[in-house]
Amino acid sequence: MNRYRGRFAPTPSGPLHFGSLIAALASFLDARQAGGEWRLRIEDIDPPRCPAGAGDEIQRQLDAFGLHWDGPVLWQHARDAAYQAALERLTERGLAYPCSCSRKQWRGYPVYPGWCRNAVCEPDKPVAWRLRSDLGLRPVIWQDRLFGEQRFDPAELGDVVLKRKDGLWAYQLAVVVDDADQGITEVVRGFDLLDNTPWQRQLQDALGAAEPRYLHLPLITGEDGQKLSKQNLAPALPTRDASVRPLLHAALRALDQVPPEALATAPVTEQLAWAVETWSVARIRPRAEHPLADAQARA
Ligand code: GLU
Repeated sequence: MNRYRGRFAPTPSGPLHFGSLIAALASFLDARQAGGEWRLRIEDIDPPRCPAGAGDEIQRQLDAFGLHWDGPVLWQHARDAAYQAALERLTERGLAYPCSCSRKQWRGYPVYPGWCRNAVCEPDKPVAWRLRSDLGLRPVIWQDRLFGEQRFDPAELGDVVLKRKDGLWAYQLAVVVDDADQGITEVVRGFDLLDNTPWQRQLQDALGAAEPRYLHLPLITGEDGQKLSKQNLAPALPTRDASVRPLLHAALRALDQVPPEALATAPVTEQLAWAVETWSVARIRPRAEHPLADAQARA
């Protein structure tokens, strides 16, 4: 039996905001209550989307909230060799193939129809690499800890991209290789990633990697109903202790935990000690979205 090992894996497209705090806090509490480890992975595989210094700022923000991780930080920009080795393994097994087709060519199809599976259509053009989803044809099924049984038909998933035409690694490959190499047993993250999970399960299967358990969390949305993000100007988390304390309290309430009112001004170590002790996934109401206005409202 594997010991519990969780992780928080932000994309450093900017500093953390309240929405990312929810994922960080829930994954931290779940790991600590289980007596497990909690790792930090900075998912900077897409350099144009990641301003310099954002990964360091994220670490300062986590520290300010008392969310201290175990072991070294894993940076995806340093993982090229591991991703390449995984792609080669898949290619050798006939599970990955180069694909020259452009999205424009398969417009009108729900997913890429797999034209390059046996021979690349236009060998002189740049290629992306895709996973074959037509070989096993088993439905992808797993039990989400909050949302229950999930079932996806491989025909509807299509052949997911592993490496892009511009040479950048795709998120799906990077996350699966890293979760496997880091020995992650539990994935706790936002609901927006639930529909990415079936591709990750297919890839774990193709690579012979262990399958972690999954807990997807209601997504904090702004007044416009959109996920909080840098694009819709979600404010960065503060690092000043006086501002951090009430926000940590609000984040616990947003996760449907019930921290005593008096804890709202308590030091983060005290709030977290209470939260690790009493953390309960059963209290979280399973809903895809959780508007910020409700999340921060006083109970
Ligand atoms: N890097 C992804 C994000 O920030 C999360 C990846 C994951 O938790 O699997 O949205």
